[in-house]
Amino acid sequence: MSSKIDLAASIRAIMDYPKPGIVFRDITTLLGDAVAFRQAVDELVAPYQGLGIDKIAGIEARGFILGGALAHQLSAGFVPIRKKGKLPHDTVRIAYSLEYGIDEMEMHVDAVKPGEKVILTDDLIATGGTAEGAVKLLRQQGAEVVSACFVIDLPDIGGRKKLEALGVQVRTLVE
Ligand code: IMP
Repeated sequence: MSSKIDLAASIRAIMDYPKPGIVFRDITTLLGDAVAFRQAVDELVAPYQGLGIDKIAGIEARGFILGGALAHQLSAGFVPIRKKGKLPHDTVRIAYSLEYGIDEMEMHVDAVKPGEKVILTDDLIATGGTAEGAVKLLRQQGAEVVSACFVIDLPDIGGRKKLEALGVQVRTLVE
């Protein structure tokens, strides 16, 4: 039987990044560790096997790395959700709240079809503002957001509760 490793130990904390007082949780160390990356992907996809998931939607940029791996494992398509102005075709756009201020994210207008079952993914959920915007964008286009999954949850900040209040099941691996 293969034993599991402690994924939290493979995530690096960077003090005072991107500004003084912030502790940035850096998953590049997890991604660079073959055993940790495989285990994280396996644990994220396990509950979604057999649910007939059509698409994985990944939030720029680390959600692309996880989302590509999840999509492959689930034989699903991948949908990039990007900062405004980065996608080449016609897009739908939504404003979302950041810790200080607002920004806008976009998805291609034809990226999901009405009724498609979608799982949203990103590396980390903090306030939940980014994921909330993505859920709204996907729902606007008629997708059924089955669940949202993240490697890291910062539970004291409340993002999980924000998504659950929208009726989205949330799965995370490390607090
Ligand atoms: P939220 O919108 O407050 O939940 O912030 C989550 C978004 O900010 C995600 O797209 C994350 O990638 C990014 N983010 C915020 N803090 C961190 C961190 O410490 N490490 C990695 N990403 C972070």
